[in-house]
Amino acid sequence: MSEANPAFAAIDHATAQAHEASSHWAASTASERARLLRGLADVLEQNATALIALANDESALGEPRLTGELARTAFQLRGFASAAEAGVPYLQIDDAAAPGAPPAGRPRLTLVQVPLGPVAMFSASNFPFAFSVLGGDTASALAAGCPVIVKAHSGHPALSRKVFELAVAVVAQQGLPVGVLTLVEGASREAGAYLVRHPNIAAVAFTGSYQGGVALWRVANERPRPIPFFGELGSINPLVVLPGALANGVAEVAKSLAGSIALGCGQFCTSPGLILVFDDADGRSFTAALADALSTQSPHRMLTDSIRYGFDHAVGKMASHAAVRSLIEMREPRELHEAGDDSCAGPWPRLFEVEAAAFIANSDLHEEMFGPAALVVKVRSVAEVLQVLQAVEGSLTVTLWGVQQNTADNLALIRAAEQIAGRVLFGGVPTGVAVTRAQQHGGPWPASTQPQTTSVGYGALARFLRPVALQDAPDWLIAAKRGGTLS
Ligand code: NAP
Repeated sequence: MSEANPAFAAIDHATAQAHEASSHWAASTASERARLLRGLADVLEQNATALIALANDESALGEPRLTGELARTAFQLRGFASAAEAGVPYLQIDDAAAPGAPPAGRPRLTLVQVPLGPVAMFSASNFPFAFSVLGGDTASALAAGCPVIVKAHSGHPALSRKVFELAVAVVAQQGLPVGVLTLVEGASREAGAYLVRHPNIAAVAFTGSYQGGVALWRVANERPRPIPFFGELGSINPLVVLPGALANGVAEVAKSLAGSIALGCGQFCTSPGLILVFDDADGRSFTAALADALSTQSPHRMLTDSIRYGFDHAVGKMASHAAVRSLIEMREPRELHEAGDDSCAGPWPRLFEVEAAAFIANSDLHEEMFGPAALVVKVRSVAEVLQVLQAVEGSLTVTLWGVQQNTADNLALIRAAEQIAGRVLFGGVPTGVAVTRAQQHGGPWPASTQPQTTSVGYGALARFLRPVALQDAPDWLIAAKRGGTLS
């Protein structure tokens, strides 16, 4: 399939290796998968100091954050190891044969799950460990029995190479085929598309921009044989502040929300970007306190120049919108960090305000500002809150503050939130996504291209399995599949 671009030959090579490893890895036992996943977790931890320093050089996310992220990445690799051992990828539903004529009479049917095959995994810029070479997509695909071809993110190439090098050594030590985990890097837009189009690829996992995600989603769907594309493309994460939530004062809650908006320089897919506040005395003082708290935050440098450019463009567009008021005055771009190191210079946080009717009427105000910024929407009734939520497209999260009572209004708000989001919070802030069995990180388009799936938590494994019903299959086959010795 190779054409002119030199990256294409590397992709041909990596996907051929993955293809070759595919049946071996699909037939691997739970203990083989668990051993690999635990080996990968161990090697990350053993090299934590060097890896975190490298990640910090390339991403500027700061050592405390990266230390936590590496720990989370090792934790989720081990979590997927336990899921494999618990038999999750080998689950079966067995319906015994019943005598007689249909529909009551039937053959024996055993539903098993088979791995999809090689998965192309596009690393995200904003999680150099947890959504990168050994992140959740890789861990869940490996646990499901699928080889992974990592497309390294151009924002942290040296870290990707180093983590991959360590992972390859684990694969070799365990005597596994090299194609279980491969890496392609330095790829251009054409090369990314070439990877998705490659006949050896069976599925794609992607976290990144709406534009990039849609471009690759199209490629996946325009192939002669379309393949599943699990994309997480963007989210504005509405947070609704009901009057009851401000009964104990505004300062503390405003401070915690400002911290969430500016966390990681706002470069979280779950960053709260849309704040719905009632236009009453408490609501107005909350908004003022939020603007104060946000303007004292000092976000660090953004991940890449193009993300910074995107942020400046998005806030510039918002600031110049006729219906929008700036709540934090525009200042010169931050020149030097207090430490005097201009490599730390981050953008000023921004907060804007708009009336609910104007928000609903202007779809350009619904776009994500990826960075430390949010838009306050002034609402006057629960009915208006519902209209604003309906105007928002799919979102990873909706946070509802002050809906603890069982009332008709609260039920309507909860229903509206469930309609547009994969996770509904009844307090706190949406940044921070726990890795558990019950986690749901996805949501209607564009939060996810496949809203029935999650990309965080142990449910992520199911994305890479396909159900097959075996009719009147011999017992030895069913037993072997249950034990993971045949796939
Ligand atoms: P991105 O530009 O979408 O890049 C993600 C990955 O897709 C990279 O590997 C990139 O390749 C590749 N890619 C992008 N567009 C492509 C195309 N048209 N054809 C083929 N490959 C393509 O995302 P990013 O660099 O991480 O961040 C940019 C923006 O994405 C941010 O400003 C933000 O708006 C959004 N974002 C969203 C999330 C989220 O969680 N939803 C997370 C991170 C970023 P290269 O590495 O070669 O560029």
